[in-house]
Amino acid sequence: MLETLLANPWLTGICLFVFGTIVGSFLNVCIHRIPLQQSLILPASRCECGENIPWRFNLPVLSWLMLRGRAACCGRSISVRYLLVEILTGMIFAYASFHFSNHEFYLLFLGSNLFFACILICVTFIDLEHMIIPNRFSFGGAVCGVLIACAFPELWGVTDDGLIGNVRSGSQALFGLLVGSGILYWIGVMGESLLRKEAIGQGDVKLLGCVGAFCGWKGALFCIFGGALLGTILLLPIALVSFLKSTDSSDKEQHTSKLGWGVEVPFGPFLVSAALLYQLGLDTFADDFFQQISYIFRSVWNEGAPIVSF
Ligand SMILES: [Zn+2]
Repeated sequence: MLETLLANPWLTGICLFVFGTIVGSFLNVCIHRIPLQQSLILPASRCECGENIPWRFNLPVLSWLMLRGRAACCGRSISVRYLLVEILTGMIFAYASFHFSNHEFYLLFLGSNLFFACILICVTFIDLEHMIIPNRFSFGGAVCGVLIACAFPELWGVTDDGLIGNVRSGSQALFGLLVGSGILYWIGVMGESLLRKEAIGQGDVKLLGCVGAFCGWKGALFCIFGGALLGTILLLPIALVSFLKSTDSSDKEQHTSKLGWGVEVPFGPFLVSAALLYQLGLDTFADDFFQQISYIFRSVWNEGAPIVSF
């Protein structure tokens, strides 16, 4: 069965899309309940009016479209976030199945990367809504990343057999965790002394530790710069427009517009976007780039005799 499935990439892609929307439906529950510290299992899905939602109104993607975003029981509007998360998760799952299709350890890479993608999706939507990144995703994700690396050295290209292999891959993940969170921590410290307010939240620092534990130190560095670049590209025009408006107009209320100078913006979603880009395609390019830089540094430090091997 698995062989037939894997032999047909399109069929695998479609199956993974459907599976992804079901997982996305569970991620919606996590996104809604975890910040409110509610249980993920009980009670069963309920509308805000207290009515239980029958299974036929709980189908991923389809139910939202059928009901046109309105609850069947009371007509309350259902956030478009539910639809977005389900479609996004489905698309990432399908794309990943193509991306890793020629891989020697297909299922292993697919499983680990999809697990990581699920963490990233939850973090994005929780951070956008609540401006927090719950510990169980950032810290918990980082610990999971190191443990998965220890258990499956193949994920890190480590070929040593036995315990040595487990220790080597685990320490690579740990190194990624420390480099990622360490650098972002110090960028935050410098930003804070310049801006005299918190520049980077603890949640982002821990999240980058999680990225490092799954993607390694090169992936973590890529996410810091990639995330900052994405943030600038997206926010600079909005911030400029709102700044110009606020200087033009005498209306003081302009300053309370949602995006503008000095307004706190969650950095998490940008880090996550960069992490997804890295994980699902830009890794080869980014790894080459940082490998080149590390060669330059090493040759400067050791005059061409590398003693540290990454
Ligand atoms: Zn209702």
